[in-house]
Amino acid sequence: MPDAGGQSHKTDVIIIGGGPVGLFAVFELGLLGLTAHVVDILDRPGGQCAELYPEKAILDIPSRMKVTGQELTNDLMAQIAPFNPTFHFQQMAEKIERLENGHWRMVTDIGTVIEAPVIAIAGGGGSFMPKKPKLDRLDEFEGKSLFYAVRKMEQFRGKNVLIAGGGDSALDWTVNLNPVVAGMSLVHRRNEFRGMQATVDQMYALVNQGKVNLAIGDILRMNGENGQIRSVTLKSAEKGEFDVPCDAMLAFYGLTMKLGPIADWGINLENNRVPVSTESFETSTPGIFCIGDMCSYPGKLKLILSGFHESALMAHACFHYARPNQKLRFEHTTSSSSIQAKLGVS
Ligand SMILES: Cc1cc2nc3c(=O)[nH]c(=O)nc-3n(C[C@H](O)[C@H](O)[C@H](O)COP(=O)(O)OP(=O)(O)OC[C@H]3O[C@@H](n4cnc5c(N)ncnc54)[C@H](O)[C@@H]3O)c2cc1C
Repeated sequence: MPDAGGQSHKTDVIIIGGGPVGLFAVFELGLLGLTAHVVDILDRPGGQCAELYPEKAILDIPSRMKVTGQELTNDLMAQIAPFNPTFHFQQMAEKIERLENGHWRMVTDIGTVIEAPVIAIAGGGGSFMPKKPKLDRLDEFEGKSLFYAVRKMEQFRGKNVLIAGGGDSALDWTVNLNPVVAGMSLVHRRNEFRGMQATVDQMYALVNQGKVNLAIGDILRMNGENGQIRSVTLKSAEKGEFDVPCDAMLAFYGLTMKLGPIADWGINLENNRVPVSTESFETSTPGIFCIGDMCSYPGKLKLILSGFHESALMAHACFHYARPNQKLRFEHTTSSSSIQAKLGVS
């Protein structure tokens, strides 16, 4: 479940992005005894692997003949579990400021505050942002009665909710939110859904039980006043124009990737990517590092294995910020009893 925001934390490294590279960075930092908090706007780990191709086979992860995007994510999560990273999902890393002691304070869009000597950006292609419906008056309703994600189910308790979309998110929330709402409509432009068949079946079962009003048609406009939606007007070949009443609308039209707030942090950028030193993966701002798809350097390949290598080198550079008075000793996992103890293997 997403945390509610508003809490303060301290750690060694704030990792922005829970894609494969951000996850593996937790491991490399953990080997050196450094703790990490991971922030991601998505509601789960895995970045592009989990969001864009969970069931596709990746064939170029060293020693893995074939692994799907979701399997890789699951295995990375298992691998980093001994280091107990803290995840802050469904939150945008929004603002950073340098503190007097040289550490960083990062604040998310829902008010989580994390302080650390190091920030590691593993933001990939940027934060996943919702694609918005092409309708007038979005500004008027957004955040008041029009939403693109469910952050707290309680927010919708007792409401007449209209869900728009035909993919996994629209179907999942039609099923999961149904017990808490007073009424629910699912609106899609055609009577075919792109989600998992099991969820499609659950949705149709709710329709047959009269718990979901399935309305097929194109949304023409939202109706309401003072930010409060009252209905949407649909148009279909069969029924012409008709209104579907609601007092909250959830639009799930897919996701797109945008650089987002990182662009405003004063770090040098080139074509929306972050140039780094290939020794340390430090950016133009001391104490801020960048790895994975978002970093750039001569010859950079946007591959998961490149991000893994970058994580290892970055972790060693981060150590000097996080433990300025300690000496870093290079150790192999095969022969280091302290690493083996951290990982719980003998
Ligand atoms: C269809 C497809 C197939 C692919 N096949 C392969 C393959 O076979 N082999 C291979 O090696 N690579 C493949 N790739 C590329 C691979 O997925 C990427 O190289 C990899 O995902 C990069 O990992 P990452 O952790 O750097 O970034 P990402 O996976 O993009 O994760 C970045 C995360 O950061 C989050 N984020 C960014 N900014 C913020 C912010 N401000 N606040 C909060 N969260 C933020 C994003 O929401 C995202 O979850 C493929 C990519 C695609 C799209």
